[in-house]
Amino acid sequence: MTDTPTTYALIDGRKVSGEIKSEISAKVHERKLSGKKVPHLAIILVGDDGASQTYVDHKVKSCKEVGFHYTMMRFADTISEEKLIKHIDHVNDDEDVDGFIVQLPLPAHISVERITEKIRSDKDVDGFTNHNFGSITSKNPLLLPATPYGVIELLRRYNIPTEGKHCVVVGASRIVGAPLSMMLAEQGHATVTLCHKYTQNLAEYTSKADILITAVGKPGLITADMVKEGAVVIDVGTTRVEGPQFKNGYAIKGDVDFKPVAAKASYITPVPGGVGPMTIASLLLNTLHATEKRNP
Ligand code: NAP
Repeated sequence: MTDTPTTYALIDGRKVSGEIKSEISAKVHERKLSGKKVPHLAIILVGDDGASQTYVDHKVKSCKEVGFHYTMMRFADTISEEKLIKHIDHVNDDEDVDGFIVQLPLPAHISVERITEKIRSDKDVDGFTNHNFGSITSKNPLLLPATPYGVIELLRRYNIPTEGKHCVVVGASRIVGAPLSMMLAEQGHATVTLCHKYTQNLAEYTSKADILITAVGKPGLITADMVKEGAVVIDVGTTRVEGPQFKNGYAIKGDVDFKPVAAKASYITPVPGGVGPMTIASLLLNTLHATEKRNP
């Protein structure tokens, strides 16, 4: 028996991501049959951060699942910025590579901004470059930032309309909150409120949201009293919390106090299993789009 009322619907990111992967796989198969180029994703990993290694392993596994070619490039965390840029230039020039990512975070002596801007924007399948970021507001956006793209795709596939809705985004980072708020306004035709660290009385805004999306990385930030009855709640937050009460000594937590918030929500994403799997699905979608554009 569960102590959470089951009035809400769970948004199952694993299921949707699986559907997207099947669709991509079918397209790759078709491309192979008609002699077209198979998408090729290159991944650059610097250092031996455990979490980054896990993310990269998932990306490689996903490439294999959908039939993409992939190249994994690993460098020690002592690599200089200049040397890393040389490798990036090489991947930029490699005609066989359709898309590539540099896994973040990078060691402190390397500028994330400088590295990101060295990636050719038509191969930037994470959607991080200024060019791709700016294109969100154009009529024909290029490669969309992967996590926001995943959130939009989840809403679309669950037939949750955004047009005319009040979407409140909490967290304003350059890779999640800020681009997502632009995409919801531009493509989703929503009325958007973007909340951040300096927002005063956060609950005043979140409690007015038809669709509440949080991307901060603070477990328990969003409590039930901050959520409107019937709201759609999307939790991007992913924080590893350690403690003896958890199996394996840790648990992955979102920003939302799940059970009490779920009791008020119409739809809600779990953590893990909500937005997380969608980020990889978006990365694959972007790689396919990049390939289709370069090699129709
Ligand atoms: P980030 O760069 O640390 O950004 C967090 C944002 O929240 C910043 O704008 C920060 O402001 C703001 N913030 C901090 N405290 C706040 C508060 N009390 N109220 C409102 N806003 C506050 O992190 P991120 O890369 O955007 O990631 C956010 C979360 O999503 C993390 O838990 C991350 O692990 C997760 N994430 C998940 C996925 C996925 O695939 N599921 C992908 C990306 C990120 P300042 O910058 O001014 O401090």
